Amino acid sequence: MKLYNTLSRQIDELKPINKPEVSIYTCGPTVYDYPHIGNWFTFIRYDLLVRSLKAHNYKTKWVLNITDVGHLVSDADQGEDKLVKKALKENKDAYAIAKLYTDYFISGLSRLNILKPDFMPKATDHIQEQIDFIKVLEEKGLTYKISDGIYFDVAKFPQYIKLARLNLEDQVDGARVEVNPEKHRQIDFALWKFSPSSGKRDMEWDSPWGKGFPGWHIECSAMALKYLGPTMDIHAGGIDHIPVHHTNEIAQSEAANGQPLANIWFHTSHLSIDGSKISKSLDNGINLEDIESRNISLEAFRLLVIQSNYINQSQFTFELLSGAQSSLKNLIRDFSWIYSGVKTNNENKQLRTNIARTKRSMLDFMADNLNTPRALSALHELASYVSNLNQISDDDILVIEKFNIFVNELFGINIVKKISLTNDQKKLISDRKNYRLDKNWDKADESRKILEEQGIGLRDVGEASLWFPLD
Ligand code: AMP
Ligand code: ZN
Repeated sequence: MKLYNTLSRQIDELKPINKPEVSIYTCGPTVYDYPHIGNWFTFIRYDLLVRSLKAHNYKTKWVLNITDVGHLVSDADQGEDKLVKKALKENKDAYAIAKLYTDYFISGLSRLNILKPDFMPKATDHIQEQIDFIKVLEEKGLTYKISDGIYFDVAKFPQYIKLARLNLEDQVDGARVEVNPEKHRQIDFALWKFSPSSGKRDMEWDSPWGKGFPGWHIECSAMALKYLGPTMDIHAGGIDHIPVHHTNEIAQSEAANGQPLANIWFHTSHLSIDGSKISKSLDNGINLEDIESRNISLEAFRLLVIQSNYINQSQFTFELLSGAQSSLKNLIRDFSWIYSGVKTNNENKQLRTNIARTKRSMLDFMADNLNTPRALSALHELASYVSNLNQISDDDILVIEKFNIFVNELFGINIVKKISLTNDQKKLISDRKNYRLDKNWDKADESRKILEEQGIGLRDVGEASLWFPLD
């Protein structure tokens, strides 16, 4: 399996530390709002990465964290905590906000058929681990205290620039982040923030440095260490995480543990709408409910993600999404007629050869830097072959059903759907056949229309009428 590694800026071979186990840490949601489809693009891509590893017989150990404290409005530790801001706006407790959106996120994972991560740790459940982590950094002389918190002293970690290839000389202090005159350098980042002296925060904890809450980045370093050890195989996130969040995670973890945090840094590109990145702060987000309210399935949304390459920036339009919905329907049409095919006792050898070849191609494309569009085109090629068949043996059906399981495991979509017809529907099909024999095309069309309204499509092959679910 090869993946583009942001750290080396090249496509690297995955060399798992404990083969066949592959450890993966993916930066999860900040639970102060409903995720938009850009966030879900990223989460589905994490899922496709894990599915691909499993299909290549690796045993995945996947951590996806829930950020429920410490992510401030500015990534650079300035401004309010995103959860606190939302809680104040809605006159709720920050824990209630966290629970609402964490529950929503978890239900979204299953609605989108995203595999359940092995661990979904919350930052607020790991305060002690974060304090312990900061203590190690403090003992190593890498921190300093100012009036609003404890900070990591970037000057003490010269490799700080390596992931984002930052040029610190070019970074005029204050150009990248808002200025805090007490910081030694503006790129220094908070490990622990003190509660404001006036008033109580909903989320605050005692620490050796005073009451407060952890900075955003430390949760990932502490939880990655707890669940995956000092070095993991793959660390993933959106590309926005490269210059700040992941750069800071590397500084904390590698300074504390003395070993690389991750061997491969996998970053997914952003989804844009009308030329701008979809962002909670720009308020241009579309969510899953917006999709469903247009009668588009979340499976079609998943196919839209598969159609795009994670490396390139993707543009979202509802037309593209409708296109994905049609494409999914066509796949279902091309494979699901098998239950109505003309029965034969002969096994189709070509079908078996083509399926084996398609599986190999799909796996190879996924192993080639998660090339989902190419893997999908291999599936479409097979679909076009299968859609031209009309005879089918019982064993052919089993072979296709087994292939559907493979596709489902790899892509998380179903291309073979079995429906049972009511007696009325069976009668409509046989009546229509008779109308066609009588060349009574109007009546035949009428029957077809009624069936289509009931979600059943028809395809005529010679005298046989094959039927399949329309969605
Ligand atoms: P957040 O909940 O804001 O912490 O974001 C969760 C994940 O979504 C992060 O890995 C982000 O990099 C990612 N993300 C944010 N905006 C987009 C976008 N427009 N397209 C794709 N991924 C995004
Ligand atoms: Zn993170």
